[in-house]
Amino acid sequence: MKALIVEDNKLISGVLEKNLRHDYYIDVVETGNEAITLASTNEYDIILLDLGLPDIDGSRVCTQIRKDNNTVPIIVSSGLSAIQTKVEMLNIGADDYLVKPYNLNELRARMQVALRHKANIAPNGILEIGRIRINPQTRTVTCTDRVIELRRKEYDILNYLAHNCGQVLSRQMIMDHVWSTDSNLWANVVDVHVKHIRDKIGRPYSSMLLKTIHGVGYKLERIE
Ligand code: CA
Repeated sequence: MKALIVEDNKLISGVLEKNLRHDYYIDVVETGNEAITLASTNEYDIILLDLGLPDIDGSRVCTQIRKDNNTVPIIVSSGLSAIQTKVEMLNIGADDYLVKPYNLNELRARMQVALRHKANIAPNGILEIGRIRINPQTRTVTCTDRVIELRRKEYDILNYLAHNCGQVLSRQMIMDHVWSTDSNLWANVVDVHVKHIRDKIGRPYSSMLLKTIHGVGYKLERIE
């Protein structure tokens, strides 16, 4: 397995490397820009990301990796323990957040959890949630082997929800992820697209799979 450690404190990256090198091939970088480049050109199994980096903030690194449709598990660590920071990082696609200084055994345990989570995605990149299969290479979706003809944005929304299966995504998060920030969007654009997705997959299954969380947004559930 391959891990990327993004950490500008050599003491910390040294300890991490020493402790993890029996289980992982490890790359270490000290800047956010190097991290983005390496993450886009390598298949990492996991990324350990420090928040305070000398060039760009770790949150921007995380956002960019997710924008590139890279689902690699990302565990963020930082000396900042504010709940707000944690929530923000999880909202932009981090899988976990550890406050420094952390215990190495806890880190290992959390890495295992993040890797198990990733295991839902087959090695060929196909994502299976219940009856739904999403193939990112061909951008095709099937439901019990029936092809679902989704429009581009419908596919992007379903794919985003699937990569965050079990988590509630707000309408704003979905808009930010699927549309460019300068798009002029009408208020219920996400709802309209979700309705189309549900219609195409077919109810009642699609309504159980793709849940409305009232006042917040949507969540994809792993149901058969
Ligand atoms: Ca740092």
